[in-house]
Amino acid sequence: MQRLVNAVRSLFSRTSAGRSRTGTPVRIPRSAHNISRKQIDKSALDVLYGLKRAGYEAYLVGGGVRDLLLGLEPKDFDVVTNARPEEVKRVFGRRCRIIGRRFRLAHVYFGRDHFVEVATFRGDSGKGVRRTDAKGRILADNVYGDSIEDDVWRRDFTVNALYYDIRDFSIIDYTGGVEDLRAGMLRLIGDPATRYREDPVRTIRAVRFAVKLGFTIERETERQLTPQGPLLQEVAPARLFEEVLKLFHNPQAVEVFEKLRHYDLFRHLFPRVDALLEEDEIHRNLVLAGLRSTERRLQQGKGVNPAFLYAFMLWRLTQHAMTPRLAEQQPAQALSEAADEVIAAQMKATAVPRRFTQQARDIWHLQLRLNNRYGDRAARLAEHPRFRAAYDLLGLRVEAGEEELRPLYDWWTEYQTLSPVDRVAFALQVEKPKRKRRRRRRNRNPYRRRVGERRTDEARGNG
Ligand code: ATP
Ligand code: MG
Repeated sequence: MQRLVNAVRSLFSRTSAGRSRTGTPVRIPRSAHNISRKQIDKSALDVLYGLKRAGYEAYLVGGGVRDLLLGLEPKDFDVVTNARPEEVKRVFGRRCRIIGRRFRLAHVYFGRDHFVEVATFRGDSGKGVRRTDAKGRILADNVYGDSIEDDVWRRDFTVNALYYDIRDFSIIDYTGGVEDLRAGMLRLIGDPATRYREDPVRTIRAVRFAVKLGFTIERETERQLTPQGPLLQEVAPARLFEEVLKLFHNPQAVEVFEKLRHYDLFRHLFPRVDALLEEDEIHRNLVLAGLRSTERRLQQGKGVNPAFLYAFMLWRLTQHAMTPRLAEQQPAQALSEAADEVIAAQMKATAVPRRFTQQARDIWHLQLRLNNRYGDRAARLAEHPRFRAAYDLLGLRVEAGEEELRPLYDWWTEYQTLSPVDRVAFALQVEKPKRKRRRRRRNRNPYRRRVGERRTDEARGNG
């Protein structure tokens, strides 16, 4: 990381950067920075030029500028303009859709699923509506500004508030972002406590960027993280779900997790998962093993699924909720009810779309069924759409310390290496499951049946 910081340090000539934190803008000319148009997404450039041609100001801002200056590959390119969303729509016509309520934005489409997000300058005054609640939280922020000068103070961190100007390819810095990039410093713009209260999601964004960039969190920005964290509980659960995915579907998921724990923020996202970490070692191991496997998959370019994330995060909780129910219920029933309870509690923190909770349930039910693999059962299990995820969870459980599952996991590992023909023979070698003893059988003999006994059996439901 030091290398990265040094690289940035050398990118700017001493005189051209790093003076302003007071609102006097610094302009870094093209000759003094390393961003070339070749590195900018073609569609983002199209949007910038389209707006410019129509007579508007247009800038690249946010992560795109920040990451390019650091020599990283940006995830996406955000555009900001003085054109209102309706005006952006007039420029791009049917390729443009206006979205959002809390923040109205325009999406300009290039093909079916690729779009560039275009925001209009925000500001403090003007004709729009900016509503806050009693605690200072921003509920709607559709107050438009006229210029960067209005917009810049609404941004979160100084390093996210650099504007790349399409007119002359210079970078405009109002908040000392260039200096902070150079120093490897993540700093909220303005008073940290106020900025966290306006939008508590900034707390977890601070952790995410600090990890991603390897930056130090500026002292006051850091000091307010833990005290302001509880405000996360008031953020819309659907928004937090999106943030959770950004946090953990991340090539540095383990470090993000550990930092969130360090600042006591994790418990606002996964209250019960957090509470169990201290007392259950297998749970702790499982969460870490799951996050490590996420990192590995992303490094290998494989897909990651929110259902799997929630499946390993919540598995031990579900297991614990299941245990007392087993005295009275069949395992599958006990698992269903335990899953209901655990998922309902989690949904209060982060709303999880139903298709993902359903998949997590399937993954959990397969944990019970994977042992039952004699004969053609194995082939049927292996065809289940969630089989692979269930097998992966089983592997994580072994890794986390459920040693007794190792033979079963190894069996399935070997099974998957075999040809279809060999699989059949392999599955026939499994010890044939004993038929469940059925009480009814014993009572089939009418001579042995007594009235009182039958009652008891019926009450048991002859399971
Ligand atoms: P990345 O896309 O790599 O996650 P980013 O910085 O581009 O990082 P986005 O969520 O894409 O983050 O947001 C783009 C820009 O919008 C940010 O850089 C920041 O300037 C501004 N922004 C986003 N979220 C907030 C927020 N909650 N409060 C203030 N400004 C924000
Ligand atoms: Mg972005």
